[in-house]
Amino acid sequence: MATVVKCPHCRKPVPWDNDHPYKPFCSERCRLIDLGEWVMEEKRIPGESLPEQSGQDDDDSDPAYWQ
Ligand SMILES: [Zn+2]
Repeated sequence: MATVVKCPHCRKPVPWDNDHPYKPFCSERCRLIDLGEWVMEEKRIPGESLPEQSGQDDDDSDPAYWQ
């Protein structure tokens, strides 16, 4: 039974397996873009809270991976 997560950047489903070394991102590009945006947002909006990666997603079709 394959676990699938969504790429935090483009929301594309990413199978959680050894074929996807950049998981939870779908690709190295998405990972780098997303990390860059995090850095910029933290500098720009220091008081703003970022979404919790470990929390529950509002999309109930997600697998139970995060729990
Ligand atoms: Zn992506």
